[in-house]
Amino acid sequence: MTDEMPMTNNQFTNIPFLIVVLLLVVVLPAPVLAQSGGPGEPGRVQEHVVAAGETLFSIARRYGTTVDAIAHANGIPDPRQIFVGQRLVIPGSLGPVDTWTAHIVRPGETLSGIARQYGVDWRTLALANHLVNPTLLTVGQVVRIPTGRGMATGALHAVQPGETLLHVAFRYGVPFWELLTANWTDRPPVALSGQWLLVPGTRPRGMPSPFLQIDLSPIPARQGDTITVIVYTEKPVELQGRLFERTVLFAEENGVYYAYVGVHAFTEPGLYEMTLTAIADGERATVTAAVRVEAGGYGYERIDVPPSRVNLLDPRVIAAERDRLAQVRALFTPQRYWHGPFRLPVDAAISSYFGTRRSYNGGPYNSYHEGVDFDIGAGAKVYAPADGVVVLAEPLAVRGNAVVIDHGWGVLTGYWHLSQIEVTVGQRVRAGEVIGRVGNTGLSTGAHLHWDFWVGGINVNGLRWVAADGPWAAPERPAAP
Ligand SMILES: [Zn+2]
Repeated sequence: MTDEMPMTNNQFTNIPFLIVVLLLVVVLPAPVLAQSGGPGEPGRVQEHVVAAGETLFSIARRYGTTVDAIAHANGIPDPRQIFVGQRLVIPGSLGPVDTWTAHIVRPGETLSGIARQYGVDWRTLALANHLVNPTLLTVGQVVRIPTGRGMATGALHAVQPGETLLHVAFRYGVPFWELLTANWTDRPPVALSGQWLLVPGTRPRGMPSPFLQIDLSPIPARQGDTITVIVYTEKPVELQGRLFERTVLFAEENGVYYAYVGVHAFTEPGLYEMTLTAIADGERATVTAAVRVEAGGYGYERIDVPPSRVNLLDPRVIAAERDRLAQVRALFTPQRYWHGPFRLPVDAAISSYFGTRRSYNGGPYNSYHEGVDFDIGAGAKVYAPADGVVVLAEPLAVRGNAVVIDHGWGVLTGYWHLSQIEVTVGQRVRAGEVIGRVGNTGLSTGAHLHWDFWVGGINVNGLRWVAADGPWAAPERPAAP
């Protein structure tokens, strides 16, 4: 047994070495082998947390699987894009992680010695750890010891209506993938309500104090959705959140913390890690969760801009206007102005939905429709969809006569191409109040209303906020837990 012998990646091609391994397999003593649910059974999965410097290729090699298999199992569109701390499902490997003990190899130890120590078969260990050469252990190497395999360890949880797997993971403070792999070897069923779940772990683990519960919806989120995050804590805290490499800002109401996160229409489908840190009395507690984003299923459309207006597409004009809007886009007012659901800003049919991929005058589809268009004639009244404060009311080159309303908590709405603006900056408006008239100003191909909806500085699908159970309702629901 060598202490510091490095693992090499060409062992499979080392023929004499393989013969030695085969001989050892025959010669080594074979204690009682637990046959039930042997390791490496097909369909079983385990979890790997990405460490600094790792690539999908190195991880695949380590577990004896392929980059494609891991990418597919985790919904990773681009195998080059993994991040430190990301939890990956390793398909075709041993699960669930929770029933393992880690053993750190000391000088002089052998695999069969370690196996005897834990009362398991050495071959089980070799397979569970994907050891190419069971005689080649390195001091300091972590050997995973499957314990309690086949035993149901953990709490049972009956899934409530509306509850998702991530809700349950949060509630018990277990990693999402542990919960997933403890219950299914493949995709979980779409309908979970009423099912019993095994929550892995010898005892139900609570959230780290002062967290009590974290609710996240919708799961999975789609491109253009608004993610609602609700955090319940034991006591008042300062909350710091991060998701999609952006800061998540929380507002507090009646001792409960709320945050809205916009999912950009071009966010790559896949898993994203959300980090939440609560600070209270000088102590910090952090929880993380995997947030899955799915494609929005948006369509494509070609827009033809009349030659007289093509100059408005000058990148400098567009950039200048974006800078102007960025000043109000980033607003976060701790006060919530809205009450009840948002209403539509006009009484008209929708002519173009949010998220549609767009080509201008036959160019590439590298932009998308940032809002919702309503088919309505010039002069029609435009109403505030909810209470708020006017933060922008001025003519813009591309968007024409524009109004932006701040509804609080990082939620803002914009109205473009108006023929008339009927509010002023700083004005408090009520839901249903007239703020302007439909028009055809700016980069517009005919009279219509374009409605923008911003959450945390990101354009989202405003129609979600009009729905009866939309994100607006979060602070108006009965408080849990
Ligand atoms: Zn539009």
